[in-house]
Amino acid sequence: MKGRFAPSPTGYIHLGNVWIALLSYISTKQQKGQYVVRMEDIDIQRSKRELGEALLDDLEWLGFEWDEGPRVGGSESTYWQSERQAFYGDILEHLASEKLIYPCFCNRTRLHSIASAPHVGEVVHRYDGRCRHLEDKLIKEFMMSKEPSLRLAVNSCDIDFVDCWQGFQHIHLEGELDDYVLRRGDGMYAYNLAVVLDDIAMGITEVIRGDDLLETTGQQIYLYRTLQTSFKSKNIQLPSYGHAPLLIDSEGHRLSKRQKSITIRELRENQWSPNRILGELAIVGGLVEAHTLSRREISLSELIEIDLNVPSLSQKTIEIQIKE
Ligand code: GLU
Repeated sequence: MKGRFAPSPTGYIHLGNVWIALLSYISTKQQKGQYVVRMEDIDIQRSKRELGEALLDDLEWLGFEWDEGPRVGGSESTYWQSERQAFYGDILEHLASEKLIYPCFCNRTRLHSIASAPHVGEVVHRYDGRCRHLEDKLIKEFMMSKEPSLRLAVNSCDIDFVDCWQGFQHIHLEGELDDYVLRRGDGMYAYNLAVVLDDIAMGITEVIRGDDLLETTGQQIYLYRTLQTSFKSKNIQLPSYGHAPLLIDSEGHRLSKRQKSITIRELRENQWSPNRILGELAIVGGLVEAHTLSRREISLSELIEIDLNVPSLSQKTIEIQIKE
């Protein structure tokens, strides 16, 4: 068994990130699995190496120990997505050779106009497949003036899976409408591509992450299936999924990467100890009852002994005064 924490270093690690890291860590340790930390800095404009380093430092300070992944100040590059682009490029070339992806020349204005067009039956109109059937001659011509994005050619299908937090999930993907981008026109590889390829390459068997990513899972499972068929490999196995409820702050915002939250840096600077932070998260998140802890403190090694009682966890509000 192998679990992972795959943060995007676009800011200092905050309570919302640590909550998710904690759940995946506890689950992995309880199954006596290996734990991987992977830096999802594929968005090179928004990610920063220093933030990644700071993130590793905060994780270490909190007491996390990982079997694979970068270390503070280490030179290990394999677990930074920004260093894995050649690998993603090779896989895309393979998919292109089998005509499983296609170049899309639609510009933003066009994509925006089709996305907002009213559509019968309330299906969200994501794409309309316009570039899926372009003739080679036209592709060559367009290539002269524009670098295309690359889309996966999706065949309509149903995807069912059981999520350990969210229960049974049914997702329908519709060919052309749901053809999604694997590499953008500016050369940036898409999250959906990098996350799947890396989870496969790193042998991840359990994905625990925030429920804000539940909606991407259908696309990711579809990519797994495509790769399984295309590479005819038994080593490409779907992981199990758990999309955990995000914590919400006192103003009702979910603590996802899009929503700023109190950072571990701020708490460290204000003399919070690791166990005090973990204690607060464990109490608010419903992992332990406040009266069982003295001074609302708990260590990571104590936390991995608790009963994770998955389905009973629900969205909880965290209210913390940084200065106590
Ligand atoms: N890098 C993503 C994030 O920070 C998480 C990806 C994942 O866990 O699949 O939101």
